[in-house]
Amino acid sequence: MLIKNKKIAIVGGGPGGLTLAKLLQLKGVDVKVYERDIDKNARVQGSPLDLHDNSGLAALEKANLLDEFKKNYMPGADKTTITNEKAEIFFSDHETVQTEDFGHEHFRPEIDRGTLRRILIDSLQDDTILWNSHFLSMQKQNEGWLLQFKNETTSYADIVIAADGANSKIRPYITDIKSFYSGITMLEGNVYEADKSLPKISGILRGGKIMAFGNEKDILMGQKANNEIGFYASFKAEENWAAKSNLDFSDKSQLLEWFKTTYFDWSDIWYELFENVQTPFIPRPINCMPLNQTWETIANLTLVGDAAHVMPPFAGEGVNMAMLDALELSECLTTDKYNSIKEAIAVYEKTMQKRASLIAQESLENGEKMHSKNALTTMISFFGGDHHG
Ligand SMILES: Cc1cc2nc3c(=O)[nH]c(=O)nc-3n(C[C@H](O)[C@H](O)[C@H](O)COP(=O)(O)OP(=O)(O)OC[C@H]3O[C@@H](n4cnc5c(N)ncnc54)[C@H](O)[C@@H]3O)c2cc1C
Repeated sequence: MLIKNKKIAIVGGGPGGLTLAKLLQLKGVDVKVYERDIDKNARVQGSPLDLHDNSGLAALEKANLLDEFKKNYMPGADKTTITNEKAEIFFSDHETVQTEDFGHEHFRPEIDRGTLRRILIDSLQDDTILWNSHFLSMQKQNEGWLLQFKNETTSYADIVIAADGANSKIRPYITDIKSFYSGITMLEGNVYEADKSLPKISGILRGGKIMAFGNEKDILMGQKANNEIGFYASFKAEENWAAKSNLDFSDKSQLLEWFKTTYFDWSDIWYELFENVQTPFIPRPINCMPLNQTWETIANLTLVGDAAHVMPPFAGEGVNMAMLDALELSECLTTDKYNSIKEAIAVYEKTMQKRASLIAQESLENGEKMHSKNALTTMISFFGGDHHG
């Protein structure tokens, strides 16, 4: 094996980095994960994730974690209701989609982000993850890299793999290419004890997802674990909207007023979300990597997941691509097919760039459709057709 006796550092313990660590460890590789979170109990932000058969689930299967996933996913959370801005229901698949359909190419079971992270963490050997390791910089040392962390520790690795997400601090060591703003901003909120706090909306949500479209704006929400729901107000906005808006994202009454003005013809049913949210709201400008990105392969440094190809979430592929990167990179690095590590990384990067570019394009196009005047009819015909989840 090319990487026998090599020290591998994965920076970032998100789904991409942790899946990669697990797959490499199964092949007996010496791997460490450096994660900035203080410990494994840090709360994971964001919506639940749906894993796809030929990417996220395929990686879990290879990691021997599919059974654990089946014990912990949220049956029914993939079921979708589509409404207009008045919360009138135009589509629901609650009665038609099967709750458990593993092996079906369109079955997209949902899992809470925190639960997925726990499954991956618990599957790793003790001391694989170094918590509170916020990567700051690195420099070449011998054949590898000396990494520096905010807690004033340093660590040597022969090969470094960036899995540190959309704002990767390692990516600039590989390429200067930066992501661009897609024109859409999503305002994220979370509500605890959702069944009590959101009596009207819970009746529509039914433990699944709601996609509401009206006047080129959306509300997207989904059931999370522990009776929480996560929601996004998604809309076209100028770049740096959050800073320019002068809104105080910790002040829910200010945000409710903003919603009433901006989503002016939406039903007051949605006010429940803003009245019961856990503050602060998190504004998320949605970025995308250029579709034609390439770079010169480096023999001891590469990247996976959002660090490589952040993309809008409108195809639901971000986490699936991160986990598929992990699967493909682990296979390239541990096969005997290639003559050098550089060749193995080059093969991985070429396939990854091509695949991510196609999916990113689909995500951009979906984003346009979902924020267009015809969003409601377009999405109903999309879901009413062959789509399954
Ligand atoms: C609003 C929104 C909604 C989304 N919805 C979906 C969806 O429905 N389905 C889907 O598939 N995808 C979705 N995504 C995308 C998905 O979240 C990402 O694609 C996925 O999490 C990428 O995984 P990753 O492991 O590459 O990076 P991340 O999940 O970002 O993990 C990176 C890790 O690196 C750590 N880290 C960062 N910097 C450092 C540092 N300097 N030193 C050490 N550690 C560091 C972080 O703490 C984190 O643990 C969404 C994204 C957004 C913004």
